[in-house]
Amino acid sequence: MTKPIIEVKNLAKNFGKNTVLKDITEDVMPGQVIVVIGPSGSGKSTFLRCLNLLETPTSGEVAFTGENLTTLDAKRVNELREQMGMVFQGFNLFPNMSVLENIKLAPMKVKGVDDKTATQRAHELLQQVNLDDHADAFPNSLSGGQAQRVAIARALAMNPKVMLFDEPTSALDPEMVGEVLNVMQDLANQGMTMVVVTHEMGFAKSVADQVWFMADGYIQETNTPDEFFSHPQTERAQDFLSKIL
Ligand code: ADP
Ligand code: MG
Repeated sequence: MTKPIIEVKNLAKNFGKNTVLKDITEDVMPGQVIVVIGPSGSGKSTFLRCLNLLETPTSGEVAFTGENLTTLDAKRVNELREQMGMVFQGFNLFPNMSVLENIKLAPMKVKGVDDKTATQRAHELLQQVNLDDHADAFPNSLSGGQAQRVAIARALAMNPKVMLFDEPTSALDPEMVGEVLNVMQDLANQGMTMVVVTHEMGFAKSVADQVWFMADGYIQETNTPDEFFSHPQTERAQDFLSKIL
């Protein structure tokens, strides 16, 4: 039987008196594309950050490839975190390095990959995101859509087993959203396991295997996108969809 790649059990997270995640239990299977949607402030970013322990859960467990992150030492957590690529709303590229250098940095520094191998791999990844002609450009000369595609290539350079995306297109001008979503769709088609927080409902409908609807500290509903958008099960989801669609 196939095992989950991420297992979340009774996850809860407080910030002081603010209980953001109350009790979340879900699995992500290898190759699955999960789209997490929900109102602003409902804890989607916090949830994503708990998956790779960028936030420490208040209680509960998060296991990655069978290892419970919440009980491991920092060294092992870091090793496992390297296998979880993360892409944020802001691109966070290093401004003083070229696109190519941005992509080569972590594989060389963290994994000890040699320069020639890292360069070759970086060019492959730039081809994958349609930016190999920008290898020597510096981040400040890129459009937002290009910068985000570089950020995706940079995350992929560590050969992650899963990719976590937190509203990767929210900061982009509308005409650049498509080029980033296309790259993400290609990645999904290649079998990458992905957890994507997004407000792009078209992407959710066409790419997600499952939609997870988060509100009030819980994942209120998990469903196929077809079912979720046509027959949402919970009143909370119906209400949310009626406001955005
Ligand atoms: P979403 O991504 O769904 O908009 P967030 O996970 O960013 O929601 O935030 C959920 C709640 O947690 C909000 O009330 C936010 O203010 C709070 N929160 C998030 N991060 C922190 C933090 N580092 N410290 C204190 N409160 C936080
Ligand atoms: Mg957020």
